[in-house]
Amino acid sequence: MPESVNTHACPFDKRFPSQLIRDDAFFMSLAYNQAIDAWRKDEVPVGAIIELGGEIVGSAHNTVQSSNDPTAHAEMLALTQAAAKLGDWRIAGATVYVTKEPCPMCSGAMLMSRVKRVCYAVPDPKMGCLGGATNLNDLPRVNHHLELTVGGVLEDECRELLQTFFKAKRKNPDVAEEA
Ligand SMILES: [Zn+2]
Repeated sequence: MPESVNTHACPFDKRFPSQLIRDDAFFMSLAYNQAIDAWRKDEVPVGAIIELGGEIVGSAHNTVQSSNDPTAHAEMLALTQAAAKLGDWRIAGATVYVTKEPCPMCSGAMLMSRVKRVCYAVPDPKMGCLGGATNLNDLPRVNHHLELTVGGVLEDECRELLQTFFKAKRKNPDVAEEA
């Protein structure tokens, strides 16, 4: 990693996945690109994509700092987009791709919106609520359960993005706090 890394100039490039193969890596690549956009705005680099029937119905990155809104996580914004696009708060059958394991708020919103599957890249043992710190799927009386695809999909790339951002932040604390 370059020594001169700062929080405004993201040292990572966007990915250009083939449009022909719309697999987990394809959609996670787009979530990764959203995370890069977040970094370029000095936001913690987390991105989310929501796929339904092969189409993208939600696409967002964290904007907590710029919107001064603690709920403006990538997943929340993408869920709101998807519900608006579908005209239904139930985003049934959809898959959420997100670069970091969802926090308590976002994991709860995914359960509430009835998405089918969540694919996340980097587990979060501190705040992750789909297996990292705890698992909301294990609530004994919840009817809806999320299918999970954990790690292995661009995990190293998404982790390096986050770790490098926070490393830069520690050198220059006048930027985003950890989301
Ligand atoms: Zn969250």
